[in-house]
Amino acid sequence: MSDTIFSKIIRREIPADIVYESDEVLAFRDLNPQAPVHVLFIPKRELATLNDAGQTDALLLGQLLLAAADYARREGFAEQGYRTVVNCNEDGGQTVFYLHVHLLAGRRMHWPPG
Ligand code: AMP
Repeated sequence: MSDTIFSKIIRREIPADIVYESDEVLAFRDLNPQAPVHVLFIPKRELATLNDAGQTDALLLGQLLLAAADYARREGFAEQGYRTVVNCNEDGGQTVFYLHVHLLAGRRMHWPPG
């Protein structure tokens, strides 16, 4: 059984501010938000990094992005805009090794990212 923070959130062993749930996806607010809106979308079926995803995970990866876009529409900031990010491994800045999509919104994003 995996022991990342996000596995524990899935198993409801530690609390999270959950904003969306389906059979495949869970979304909750980031503990250390980098924008007025900062929500993490994770698959219920665990993958450590994007490198661990294969063709059989294509639907699941799509569901993560679609869940983020649906959330943006529901919360009313889809037209204004937002950013989705998947950090992978050390150079990508990944710190929790349970695949997740960051959804950031509520301020103007910068490019290139730091
Ligand atoms: P990353 O650096 O892409 O791996 O992102 C991990 C994110 O998880 C960071 O933005 C953290 O602030 C966030 N985080 C870590 N622990 C928790 C937690 N218990 N609940 C919500 N977000 C968390």
